[in-house]
Amino acid sequence: MNVIIVAKFLRGPRNFALRDPKVIAATSIALVAIVLSGFLIGFFARGLNGPAHAQLAAMQARLDEHNAALLDVRAGSSRELNAMAARLGELQAQANRLNALGERLTRSGKLGDGEFNFIEAPGVGGIDPATPQSAFDVQSRLNELELQFESSGEQLSLIEALLADQDVDLSATPAGMPVKGGYMSSHFGNRTDPITGGNQFHRGLDFSGKLGDPITAVADGVVIFASRDAGLGNLVEIDHGNGLMTRYGHNSKLLVSVGERVRAGDKISLMGSTGRSTGNHLHFEVWRDGRPVNPRQFLQHSRG
Ligand SMILES: [Zn+2]
Repeated sequence: MNVIIVAKFLRGPRNFALRDPKVIAATSIALVAIVLSGFLIGFFARGLNGPAHAQLAAMQARLDEHNAALLDVRAGSSRELNAMAARLGELQAQANRLNALGERLTRSGKLGDGEFNFIEAPGVGGIDPATPQSAFDVQSRLNELELQFESSGEQLSLIEALLADQDVDLSATPAGMPVKGGYMSSHFGNRTDPITGGNQFHRGLDFSGKLGDPITAVADGVVIFASRDAGLGNLVEIDHGNGLMTRYGHNSKLLVSVGERVRAGDKISLMGSTGRSTGNHLHFEVWRDGRPVNPRQFLQHSRG
């Protein structure tokens, strides 16, 4: 076999016989070179692709991580949203209870019609508070609730103040009669003493009646005296606060004791004629700031 090689440096085609050891050697070297270069190319190709593959894998891993984190955040925010929705529901229920309480107070306190408004529901459109659609829903609902609480709170403190005033002005202020069916037998002020016949300042009103007629407290208060008095016999004294005190004398029987809380209209004693008395009657006094005053100004009022 002959191999013809045409090359410039050979200055014309040259024949090499394959038997020629030089040719065999050259051919072998060439073949080895080709195979080697194939290996080298492969090696370099892998060498070049290797880092890219690694980078790609790293990026994939990071992407997976991010995805997992995102899922976590999503699950977390959905959990948070649910928790917020539940809390929102509780707040709404509380607001409803507050409003119901406000309603009852307004009604029981007989406070002006239209002055208070607790029924007004928060101005939202048809979304069940237990299932808000988004964090934005929850937020706007919370804002509305906050306003509602503010308004209810203001109204409640106003009602509290009004009721407290009412309490002082009405319940703890003597009003109405301490006896039923009796007639006034003696006025407040100067009079002739029924026993000595001399001049006497009468510090209260007398109501005549029958033995055992019930005597009632004319205002809320605390019993500060319930015992025998030389002049007024079996005597009850009730402190109503605000510098007001009432006294009920000549009773046949006392039904309360010192320290007892009484409400206006509570039965405190039974009519009698104990002490300096000429017949069954109630001697009734009202004291203001340590001085007896004419009870008439109080008795004319009646409790609604
Ligand atoms: Zn009297």
